[in-house]
Amino acid sequence: MTERKVKNTDRIYERDSSVSHFEAKVLSCEADGGEYKVVLSRTAFFPTGGGQSCDTGTLNGIEVTDVNIKNGEIIHVLPLPVEVGQTVHGIIDYAEREEKMQSHTAEHILSSVLNTKYGLSNVGFHLGTVDTTCDFDGVLTLDQLNDAEDEVNRIIRENHPVFPVFPSENELKTLEYRSKLDLTEDVRIVMIGENGSVDKCACCAPHVRETGNIGYFKIVDFYKYKGGTRVHILTGQKAVERARDDFEGIKTLSALLSAPRNAQSVSEAAERIREENEALEREISVLNGRINELICASITDTELSALFDGRTDVQTLRSLCLSAAEKVKTAVVFGGEDGRFNFVIAGEKAQDTFAKMKNSLNVRGGGKEVICGTVFATESEIKTLFDGENI
Ligand SMILES: [Zn+2]
Repeated sequence: MTERKVKNTDRIYERDSSVSHFEAKVLSCEADGGEYKVVLSRTAFFPTGGGQSCDTGTLNGIEVTDVNIKNGEIIHVLPLPVEVGQTVHGIIDYAEREEKMQSHTAEHILSSVLNTKYGLSNVGFHLGTVDTTCDFDGVLTLDQLNDAEDEVNRIIRENHPVFPVFPSENELKTLEYRSKLDLTEDVRIVMIGENGSVDKCACCAPHVRETGNIGYFKIVDFYKYKGGTRVHILTGQKAVERARDDFEGIKTLSALLSAPRNAQSVSEAAERIREENEALEREISVLNGRINELICASITDTELSALFDGRTDVQTLRSLCLSAAEKVKTAVVFGGEDGRFNFVIAGEKAQDTFAKMKNSLNVRGGGKEVICGTVFATESEIKTLFDGENI
């Protein structure tokens, strides 16, 4: 809900959202830092508010960097001044405006559908650059949202008119509409359908003129949020582009997984691979255990045993080290190749052994009874360090 009480400026965007070019008189132009704050006699620029950023565009070819309402006035922020009393030509970026109007109007329809079906209210709205979020004050399921999505697209296809009305204080008393305001005057109601048969909602922003202009509506994500539900929506070309991207993604995955080109087959193939991976991991774990047993069986040292292993998984090395430490007083296991070894130390002199390594090698790591880390050295450098100590 944008602040609607505005003085001095006629708001063209409130009556006719299709206006992208307009003429206006400059009422004031104040320097502020390196910027100029301009108030016009009339404007088609929608100012930032109600979860929606302002329109972008130009005034006499000068870029409008921001439009906001301050102290009841619509301020156009410019990097250069314009002359007070002069007539300026304003142009808004209509492609961007149209996208915003599509999403904003779709939000009205979705809110109306969810309000009618489930009695929920829209309690948050943000029109972002990637997508638009709408927050509702109740938990919604996938089935309910799929159903609502179908209903919104049906209303879009029926091409209902969208238009604002400005009811008097008396008319307002008997009017049923969403987003009830405390205000009794200067209220703008956006009607969708003849006599607001689809929806009536208090709102100041520009909307499309017919629901068919939205083109296509897609819910792309939803989740529980602050006790209710946050719904991400896309409309028009953005929704088509997302559908295209997702389809391309399925095409790529279907080739990688050798699965038929549809979401269900790709998901099933991915699930099979996940199960196969889990089975392989279990097998690898069993094999690692057997390898560790064989290595430990060949240990002949009694004081210190340093073992080099091609495997790098720290859990595997730790398991080998702990088994080795049952046969010798101190065990050190290195896993990797020249230049970088993961290591695990366990046993009576674990801390002494670690200190010795830290003194002469590039070592990272730590621990109390079992020490884990990485050493950046060659096998021969490490062996030289432990020379004469049963390596
Ligand atoms: Zn609105």
